[in-house]
Amino acid sequence: MAPFDCDVAVIGLGAMGSAALAQAAARGAKAIGIEARTPANSLSSSHGDSRIIRLGYFEDPSYVPMLRRAYETWRALERHTGREVLTITGVLQIGRPDSPIVSGTLASCREYDLAHEVLDPSAMAARFPAFALDPDEIAVLEHQGGFVRPEVAVAAHLDWARANGAELRLDTRVEAIEPDDAGVTLRIGSERLRAKAVVVATGPWIAELVPALRGLAQPIRQVVAWYEPKNKAATALGTMPVFLRDAGPVGSFFGMPALGPDGVKVGKHAHFREPVGDPDQADAPANARDTDLLDEFIARRLPLAAGPRLATTTCRYTMLPGEDFLLDHLPGERRVVVASPCSGHGYKFASVVGEILADLALEGASRLPVEAFGFEALARKAAA
Ligand SMILES: Cc1cc2nc3c(=O)[nH]c(=O)nc-3n(C[C@H](O)[C@H](O)[C@H](O)COP(=O)(O)OP(=O)(O)OC[C@H]3O[C@@H](n4cnc5c(N)ncnc54)[C@H](O)[C@@H]3O)c2cc1C
Repeated sequence: MAPFDCDVAVIGLGAMGSAALAQAAARGAKAIGIEARTPANSLSSSHGDSRIIRLGYFEDPSYVPMLRRAYETWRALERHTGREVLTITGVLQIGRPDSPIVSGTLASCREYDLAHEVLDPSAMAARFPAFALDPDEIAVLEHQGGFVRPEVAVAAHLDWARANGAELRLDTRVEAIEPDDAGVTLRIGSERLRAKAVVVATGPWIAELVPALRGLAQPIRQVVAWYEPKNKAATALGTMPVFLRDAGPVGSFFGMPALGPDGVKVGKHAHFREPVGDPDQADAPANARDTDLLDEFIARRLPLAAGPRLATTTCRYTMLPGEDFLLDHLPGERRVVVASPCSGHGYKFASVVGEILADLALEGASRLPVEAFGFEALARKAAA
Protein backbone atom coordinates (compact mmCIF):
# COMPACT_ATOMS: atom_id res chain seq x y z
CA MET A 1 0.00 0.00 0.00
CA ALA A 2 1.29 3.50 -0.92
CA PRO A 3 2.46 5.71 1.96
CA PHE A 4 0.07 8.33 3.31
CA ASP A 5 0.05 11.77 1.69
CA CYS A 6 -1.76 13.31 4.67
CA ASP A 7 -3.52 12.69 7.96
CA VAL A 8 -6.78 14.09 6.64
CA ALA A 9 -8.06 15.09 3.21
CA VAL A 10 -11.03 17.45 3.18
CA ILE A 11 -13.10 17.23 0.00
CA GLY A 12 -15.04 20.41 -0.85
CA LEU A 13 -13.96 23.81 0.45
CA GLY A 14 -17.22 25.63 1.07
CA ALA A 15 -18.45 26.64 4.53
CA MET A 16 -18.02 23.23 6.15
CA GLY A 17 -14.90 21.96 4.40
CA SER A 18 -12.89 25.18 4.83
CA ALA A 19 -13.70 25.15 8.55
CA ALA A 20 -12.78 21.46 8.91
CA LEU A 21 -9.49 22.03 7.12
CA ALA A 22 -8.62 24.99 9.36
CA GLN A 23 -9.47 23.08 12.53
CA ALA A 24 -7.50 20.00 11.48
CA ALA A 25 -4.43 22.04 10.51
CA ALA A 26 -4.59 24.06 13.74
CA ARG A 27 -4.26 20.78 15.66
CA GLY A 28 -1.05 19.97 13.81
CA ALA A 29 -2.51 17.43 11.40
CA LYS A 30 -1.07 17.22 7.91
CA ALA A 31 -4.16 18.33 6.01
CA ILE A 32 -4.97 18.64 2.30
CA GLY A 33 -8.08 20.51 1.11
CA ILE A 34 -9.40 19.59 -2.34
CA GLU A 35 -11.94 21.73 -4.19
CA ALA A 36 -13.48 20.94 -7.59
CA ARG A 37 -13.83 24.62 -8.51
CA THR A 38 -12.99 27.61 -6.33
CA PRO A 39 -14.00 28.09 -2.70
CA ALA A 40 -17.50 29.64 -2.33
CA ASN A 41 -18.09 29.33 -6.09
CA SER A 42 -21.41 30.37 -7.63
CA LEU A 43 -22.74 26.78 -7.90
CA SER A 44 -22.03 26.13 -4.24
CA SER A 45 -24.18 27.02 -1.23
CA SER A 46 -21.71 29.45 0.34
CA HIS A 47 -22.00 32.65 -1.69
CA GLY A 48 -24.29 35.70 -1.52
CA ASP A 49 -22.80 38.18 0.98
CA SER A 50 -24.58 37.30 4.22
CA ARG A 51 -25.98 34.49 6.36
CA ILE A 52 -28.10 34.97 9.47
CA ILE A 53 -26.82 33.78 12.83
CA ARG A 54 -29.02 33.63 15.94
CA LEU A 55 -28.99 31.93 19.32
CA GLY A 56 -32.71 31.55 20.05
CA TYR A 57 -33.26 28.64 17.71
CA PHE A 58 -36.95 28.18 16.91
CA GLU A 59 -36.24 24.92 15.10
CA ASP A 60 -35.25 23.22 18.38
CA PRO A 61 -33.70 24.52 21.61
CA SER A 62 -31.26 21.61 21.54
CA TYR A 63 -29.19 23.50 18.93
CA VAL A 64 -28.40 26.31 21.40
CA PRO A 65 -25.27 24.79 23.03
CA MET A 66 -23.78 24.22 19.58
CA LEU A 67 -24.68 27.78 18.61
CA ARG A 68 -22.96 29.16 21.68
CA ARG A 69 -19.83 27.34 20.61
CA ALA A 70 -20.30 28.63 17.03
CA TYR A 71 -20.17 32.24 18.26
CA GLU A 72 -16.94 31.45 20.15
CA THR A 73 -15.36 29.75 17.16
CA TRP A 74 -16.33 32.58 14.76
CA ARG A 75 -14.70 35.07 17.11
CA ALA A 76 -11.61 32.84 17.38
CA LEU A 77 -11.40 32.77 13.58
CA GLU A 78 -11.45 36.58 13.55
CA ARG A 79 -8.64 36.68 16.10
CA HIS A 80 -6.53 34.20 14.14
CA THR A 81 -6.95 35.97 10.81
CA GLY A 82 -7.68 39.63 11.56
CA ARG A 83 -10.76 39.44 9.32
CA GLU A 84 -14.24 40.63 10.29
CA VAL A 85 -16.56 37.68 9.80
CA LEU A 86 -19.44 38.10 12.26
CA THR A 87 -21.50 41.28 12.76
CA ILE A 88 -24.07 41.62 15.53
CA THR A 89 -27.24 43.50 14.53
CA GLY A 90 -29.87 41.79 16.65
CA VAL A 91 -32.41 39.52 14.97
CA LEU A 92 -36.17 40.08 14.81
CA GLN A 93 -38.28 36.95 14.59
CA ILE A 94 -41.74 38.08 13.53
CA GLY A 95 -45.13 36.38 13.33
CA ARG A 96 -48.25 35.50 15.27
CA PRO A 97 -47.54 34.49 18.88
CA ASP A 98 -48.44 30.86 18.13
CA SER A 99 -46.42 30.66 14.88
CA PRO A 100 -43.50 28.20 14.86
CA ILE A 101 -40.91 30.96 14.53
CA VAL A 102 -42.19 33.12 17.38
CA SER A 103 -43.25 30.37 19.78
CA GLY A 104 -40.12 28.30 19.03
CA THR A 105 -37.78 31.26 19.51
CA LEU A 106 -39.42 32.12 22.83
CA ALA A 107 -39.12 28.49 23.97
CA SER A 108 -35.38 28.54 23.17
CA CYS A 109 -34.91 31.90 24.89
CA ARG A 110 -36.69 30.67 28.02
CA GLU A 111 -34.88 27.33 28.18
CA TYR A 112 -31.44 28.92 27.81
CA ASP A 113 -32.13 32.26 29.48
CA LEU A 114 -31.26 34.22 26.33
CA ALA A 115 -31.58 38.01 26.38
CA HIS A 116 -34.61 39.04 24.32
CA GLU A 117 -37.51 41.47 24.13
CA VAL A 118 -41.04 40.96 22.87
CA LEU A 119 -42.29 43.88 20.78
CA ASP A 120 -45.89 44.58 19.75
CA PRO A 121 -46.74 46.41 16.51
CA SER A 122 -46.62 49.87 18.08
CA ALA A 123 -43.23 49.20 19.74
CA MET A 124 -41.97 47.89 16.40
CA ALA A 125 -43.22 50.98 14.55
CA ALA A 126 -41.37 53.20 17.04
CA ARG A 127 -38.10 51.27 17.10
CA PHE A 128 -37.88 49.50 13.75
CA PRO A 129 -40.08 51.44 11.31
CA ALA A 130 -38.81 49.44 8.33
CA PHE A 131 -41.14 46.57 9.30
CA ALA A 132 -44.92 46.49 8.79
CA LEU A 133 -46.69 44.15 11.25
CA ASP A 134 -50.31 43.00 11.28
CA PRO A 135 -52.17 43.95 14.49
CA ASP A 136 -52.07 40.33 15.73
CA GLU A 137 -48.32 39.87 15.13
CA ILE A 138 -45.39 40.37 17.47
CA ALA A 139 -41.61 40.32 17.12
CA VAL A 140 -39.02 38.68 19.34
CA LEU A 141 -35.85 40.76 19.34
CA GLU A 142 -32.88 38.61 20.21
CA HIS A 143 -29.87 40.79 20.86
CA GLN A 144 -27.16 38.31 19.89
CA GLY A 145 -28.46 37.82 16.35
CA GLY A 146 -26.56 39.07 13.34
CA PHE A 147 -24.91 37.86 10.19
CA VAL A 148 -21.80 36.07 8.97
CA ARG A 149 -20.12 37.02 5.68
CA PRO A 150 -19.91 33.66 3.85
CA GLU A 151 -17.22 34.40 1.27
CA VAL A 152 -15.06 36.18 3.85
CA ALA A 153 -15.48 33.34 6.34
CA VAL A 154 -14.46 30.69 3.79
CA ALA A 155 -11.40 32.76 2.80
CA ALA A 156 -10.52 33.30 6.46
CA HIS A 157 -10.74 29.59 7.28
CA LEU A 158 -8.53 28.80 4.28
CA ASP A 159 -6.00 31.49 5.29
CA TRP A 160 -5.87 30.05 8.77
CA ALA A 161 -5.51 26.53 7.38
CA ARG A 162 -2.64 27.57 5.10
CA ALA A 163 -0.94 29.43 7.95
CA ASN A 164 -0.88 26.11 9.82
CA GLY A 165 0.60 24.23 6.89
CA ALA A 166 -2.48 22.91 5.08
CA GLU A 167 -2.14 22.31 1.36
CA LEU A 168 -4.91 23.51 -0.96
CA ARG A 169 -5.72 21.93 -4.31
CA LEU A 170 -8.26 23.94 -6.27
CA ASP A 171 -9.90 23.01 -9.61
CA THR A 172 -9.39 19.40 -8.55
CA ARG A 173 -12.33 17.02 -8.47
CA VAL A 174 -12.29 13.89 -6.35
CA GLU A 175 -13.98 11.17 -8.40
CA ALA A 176 -14.17 8.42 -5.80
CA ILE A 177 -13.16 7.53 -2.26
CA GLU A 178 -12.06 3.99 -1.46
CA PRO A 179 -11.68 3.21 2.24
CA ASP A 180 -9.66 0.18 3.36
CA ASP A 181 -8.41 -1.18 6.67
CA ALA A 182 -5.57 1.34 6.93
CA GLY A 183 -6.86 4.53 5.32
CA VAL A 184 -8.64 5.94 2.29
CA THR A 185 -7.60 6.24 -1.35
CA LEU A 186 -8.92 9.24 -3.25
CA ARG A 187 -9.22 8.94 -7.02
CA ILE A 188 -8.40 12.19 -8.85
CA GLY A 189 -8.03 11.45 -12.56
CA SER A 190 -5.12 9.06 -12.86
CA GLU A 191 -3.72 10.17 -9.49
CA ARG A 192 -4.24 8.23 -6.25
CA LEU A 193 -3.98 10.19 -3.02
CA ARG A 194 -3.72 8.34 0.29
CA ALA A 195 -5.18 9.82 3.47
CA LYS A 196 -5.54 8.37 6.95
CA ALA A 197 -9.05 9.90 7.05
CA VAL A 198 -11.29 11.98 4.79
CA VAL A 199 -14.00 14.54 5.38
CA VAL A 200 -16.58 14.71 2.61
CA ALA A 201 -18.08 18.22 2.57
CA THR A 202 -19.25 18.49 -1.01
CA GLY A 203 -22.51 20.36 -0.46
CA PRO A 204 -25.10 19.78 -3.20
CA TRP A 205 -22.83 17.07 -4.68
CA ILE A 206 -22.73 15.09 -1.41
CA ALA A 207 -24.56 12.02 -2.75
CA GLU A 208 -21.99 11.56 -5.57
CA LEU A 209 -19.28 10.48 -3.11
CA VAL A 210 -21.70 9.20 -0.44
CA PRO A 211 -24.13 6.84 -2.21
CA ALA A 212 -25.89 6.21 1.14
CA LEU A 213 -27.35 9.71 0.73
CA ARG A 214 -28.83 9.12 -2.72
CA GLY A 215 -32.54 9.80 -2.50
CA LEU A 216 -32.07 11.43 0.92
CA ALA A 217 -29.98 14.56 0.22
CA GLN A 218 -31.94 16.74 -2.18
CA PRO A 219 -30.49 20.03 -3.48
CA ILE A 220 -33.16 22.65 -4.16
CA ARG A 221 -33.01 25.99 -5.95
CA GLN A 222 -33.04 29.12 -3.80
CA VAL A 223 -33.47 32.71 -5.03
CA VAL A 224 -32.67 35.94 -3.18
CA ALA A 225 -33.04 39.57 -4.27
CA TRP A 226 -31.65 42.95 -3.22
CA TYR A 227 -33.63 46.20 -3.24
CA GLU A 228 -32.65 49.84 -3.13
CA PRO A 229 -34.20 51.19 0.08
CA LYS A 230 -36.77 53.97 -0.16
CA ASN A 231 -35.65 55.09 3.29
CA LYS A 232 -31.92 54.65 3.81
CA ALA A 233 -31.89 55.59 7.50
CA ALA A 234 -34.55 53.00 8.48
CA THR A 235 -32.87 50.17 6.59
CA ALA A 236 -29.21 50.87 7.35
CA LEU A 237 -26.82 48.53 9.11
CA GLY A 238 -26.86 49.68 12.72
CA THR A 239 -30.58 50.55 12.58
CA MET A 240 -32.35 47.57 11.05
CA PRO A 241 -31.71 44.09 12.51
CA VAL A 242 -31.62 40.95 10.40
CA PHE A 243 -35.00 39.20 10.45
CA LEU A 244 -37.06 36.07 9.96
CA ARG A 245 -40.77 36.37 9.34
CA ASP A 246 -43.32 33.59 9.67
CA ALA A 247 -45.81 33.90 6.80
CA GLY A 248 -48.13 31.08 7.91
CA PRO A 249 -48.83 28.35 5.36
CA VAL A 250 -46.74 30.18 2.71
CA GLY A 251 -43.57 29.51 4.72
CA SER A 252 -41.07 32.00 6.09
CA PHE A 253 -39.01 34.88 4.74
CA PHE A 254 -35.65 36.22 5.84
CA GLY A 255 -33.60 39.31 5.16
CA MET A 256 -30.81 41.71 5.97
CA PRO A 257 -30.41 45.45 6.30
CA ALA A 258 -28.57 47.26 3.51
CA LEU A 259 -25.00 45.99 3.90
CA GLY A 260 -23.66 47.60 0.75
CA PRO A 261 -24.64 49.26 -2.52
CA ASP A 262 -26.97 46.37 -3.45
CA GLY A 263 -29.36 47.34 -0.64
CA VAL A 264 -31.75 45.24 1.45
CA LYS A 265 -31.68 41.47 0.82
CA VAL A 266 -34.74 39.21 1.09
CA GLY A 267 -35.43 35.56 0.39
CA LYS A 268 -37.98 32.90 1.23
CA HIS A 269 -36.76 29.86 3.13
CA ALA A 270 -36.60 26.94 0.66
CA HIS A 271 -38.21 29.20 -1.99
CA PHE A 272 -40.44 26.95 -4.21
CA ARG A 273 -38.58 23.75 -3.21
CA GLU A 274 -37.60 23.10 -6.85
CA PRO A 275 -35.21 20.12 -7.04
CA VAL A 276 -31.80 20.71 -8.63
CA GLY A 277 -31.21 17.83 -11.06
CA ASP A 278 -27.52 18.10 -11.92
CA PRO A 279 -25.56 20.30 -9.49
CA ASP A 280 -22.90 20.86 -12.19
CA GLN A 281 -25.42 22.82 -14.26
CA ALA A 282 -26.08 26.45 -13.33
CA ASP A 283 -29.56 26.99 -11.92
CA ALA A 284 -32.07 28.89 -14.03
CA PRO A 285 -31.68 32.61 -13.26
CA ALA A 286 -34.46 34.36 -11.35
CA ASN A 287 -37.67 34.52 -13.41
CA ALA A 288 -40.88 36.55 -13.01
CA ARG A 289 -42.47 34.02 -10.63
CA ASP A 290 -39.40 34.21 -8.37
CA THR A 291 -39.23 37.98 -8.35
CA ASP A 292 -43.02 38.44 -7.98
CA LEU A 293 -42.86 36.44 -4.74
CA LEU A 294 -40.06 38.58 -3.30
CA ASP A 295 -41.35 41.91 -4.72
CA GLU A 296 -44.77 41.30 -3.14
CA PHE A 297 -43.21 40.38 0.18
CA ILE A 298 -41.00 43.45 0.41
CA ALA A 299 -43.76 45.83 -0.72
CA ARG A 300 -46.13 44.52 1.94
CA ARG A 301 -43.79 43.73 4.82
CA LEU A 302 -40.82 46.10 4.42
CA PRO A 303 -42.36 49.08 2.60
CA LEU A 304 -39.50 51.44 3.46
CA ALA A 305 -37.07 49.05 1.77
CA ALA A 306 -39.18 48.48 -1.33
CA GLY A 307 -37.40 50.60 -3.91
CA PRO A 308 -36.23 49.20 -7.26
CA ARG A 309 -34.93 45.63 -7.30
CA LEU A 310 -31.18 45.91 -7.93
CA ALA A 311 -29.94 42.33 -8.09
CA THR A 312 -30.94 38.67 -7.79
CA THR A 313 -28.97 35.48 -7.40
CA THR A 314 -29.65 31.76 -7.17
CA CYS A 315 -28.10 29.37 -4.70
CA ARG A 316 -28.79 25.87 -3.35
CA TYR A 317 -30.08 24.40 -0.14
CA THR A 318 -29.43 20.66 0.24
CA MET A 319 -32.29 19.21 2.26
CA LEU A 320 -32.20 16.09 4.42
CA PRO A 321 -35.18 14.38 6.09
CA GLY A 322 -36.30 16.47 9.05
CA GLU A 323 -34.49 19.48 7.51
CA ASP A 324 -31.63 18.60 9.82
CA PHE A 325 -27.87 18.02 9.78
CA LEU A 326 -25.73 14.92 9.24
CA LEU A 327 -22.28 14.96 10.88
CA ASP A 328 -21.08 11.40 11.29
CA HIS A 329 -18.78 8.65 10.15
CA LEU A 330 -20.03 6.68 7.21
CA PRO A 331 -21.61 3.55 8.73
CA GLY A 332 -18.89 0.94 9.16
CA GLU A 333 -16.15 3.30 7.89
CA ARG A 334 -14.45 5.10 10.77
CA ARG A 335 -12.07 6.83 8.35
CA VAL A 336 -14.77 8.60 6.32
CA VAL A 337 -16.57 11.56 7.87
CA VAL A 338 -19.64 13.03 6.17
CA ALA A 339 -20.62 16.70 6.58
CA SER A 340 -24.04 17.44 5.23
CA PRO A 341 -24.74 20.90 3.79
CA CYS A 342 -27.30 21.28 6.59
CA SER A 343 -30.72 21.77 4.98
CA GLY A 344 -30.48 25.50 4.33
CA HIS A 345 -29.67 26.58 7.87
CA GLY A 346 -26.09 25.48 8.36
CA TYR A 347 -23.86 28.44 7.68
CA LYS A 348 -24.10 29.94 11.14
CA PHE A 349 -22.79 26.64 12.53
CA ALA A 350 -19.90 26.21 10.08
CA SER A 351 -17.19 27.30 12.53
CA VAL A 352 -18.29 24.71 15.11
CA VAL A 353 -19.08 22.10 12.47
CA GLY A 354 -15.41 22.41 11.45
CA GLU A 355 -14.43 21.58 15.01
CA ILE A 356 -16.78 18.58 15.08
CA LEU A 357 -15.51 17.27 11.73
CA ALA A 358 -11.88 17.57 12.86
CA ASP A 359 -12.79 15.72 16.08
CA LEU A 360 -14.44 12.90 14.13
CA ALA A 361 -11.65 12.61 11.55
CA LEU A 362 -8.66 12.88 13.91
CA GLU A 363 -9.96 11.53 17.22
CA GLY A 364 -12.82 9.26 16.19
CA ALA A 365 -15.43 11.08 18.31
CA SER A 366 -16.51 14.61 19.15
CA ARG A 367 -16.80 16.15 22.58
CA LEU A 368 -19.74 18.18 21.24
CA PRO A 369 -23.18 16.52 21.31
CA VAL A 370 -23.72 15.15 17.79
CA GLU A 371 -25.82 12.01 18.34
CA ALA A 372 -28.83 13.79 16.86
CA PHE A 373 -26.86 14.30 13.64
CA GLY A 374 -25.86 10.68 13.01
CA PHE A 375 -26.83 8.20 10.29
CA GLU A 376 -29.06 6.33 12.75
CA ALA A 377 -31.00 9.48 13.59
CA LEU A 378 -31.21 10.28 9.87
CA ALA A 379 -32.76 6.86 9.17
CA ARG A 380 -35.37 7.51 11.88
CA LYS A 381 -36.19 10.93 10.40
CA ALA A 382 -36.42 9.42 6.90
CA ALA A 383 -38.82 6.74 8.17
CA ALA A 384 -41.02 9.21 10.10
C1 LIG B 1 -29.60 31.71 -0.37
C2 LIG B 1 -29.15 30.96 0.86
C3 LIG B 1 -29.36 31.54 2.10
C4 LIG B 1 -28.95 30.87 3.24
N1 LIG B 1 -29.13 31.51 4.44
C5 LIG B 1 -28.62 30.95 5.55
C6 LIG B 1 -28.66 31.68 6.77
O1 LIG B 1 -29.15 32.82 6.81
N2 LIG B 1 -28.12 31.10 7.88
C7 LIG B 1 -27.56 29.86 7.84
O2 LIG B 1 -27.10 29.39 8.88
N3 LIG B 1 -27.48 29.15 6.68
C8 LIG B 1 -28.00 29.66 5.55
N4 LIG B 1 -27.90 28.99 4.35
C9 LIG B 1 -27.34 27.63 4.33
C10 LIG B 1 -25.82 27.61 4.26
O3 LIG B 1 -25.35 28.60 3.36
C11 LIG B 1 -25.34 26.21 3.87
O4 LIG B 1 -25.74 25.34 4.92
C12 LIG B 1 -23.83 26.12 3.69
O5 LIG B 1 -23.34 27.13 2.84
C13 LIG B 1 -23.43 24.75 3.13
O6 LIG B 1 -22.03 24.74 2.96
P1 LIG B 1 -21.24 23.44 2.45
O7 LIG B 1 -19.81 23.70 2.73
O8 LIG B 1 -21.87 22.22 3.00
O9 LIG B 1 -21.51 23.38 0.87
P2 LIG B 1 -20.89 24.26 -0.34
O10 LIG B 1 -20.68 25.67 0.04
O11 LIG B 1 -21.78 24.01 -1.51
O12 LIG B 1 -19.47 23.62 -0.58
C14 LIG B 1 -19.29 22.38 -1.22
C15 LIG B 1 -18.05 22.48 -2.07
O13 LIG B 1 -17.67 21.18 -2.50
C16 LIG B 1 -17.13 21.29 -3.80
N5 LIG B 1 -17.18 19.95 -4.42
C17 LIG B 1 -18.29 19.28 -4.81
N6 LIG B 1 -17.96 18.05 -5.27
C18 LIG B 1 -16.61 17.95 -5.17
C19 LIG B 1 -15.68 16.91 -5.48
N7 LIG B 1 -16.08 15.73 -5.97
N8 LIG B 1 -14.36 17.14 -5.28
C20 LIG B 1 -13.94 18.33 -4.77
N9 LIG B 1 -14.79 19.33 -4.43
C21 LIG B 1 -16.11 19.15 -4.62
C22 LIG B 1 -18.01 22.34 -4.46
O14 LIG B 1 -17.39 22.94 -5.58
C23 LIG B 1 -18.25 23.32 -3.32
O15 LIG B 1 -17.32 24.37 -3.33
C24 LIG B 1 -28.34 29.61 3.17
C25 LIG B 1 -28.14 29.02 1.91
C26 LIG B 1 -28.54 29.69 0.76
C27 LIG B 1 -28.30 29.04 -0.56
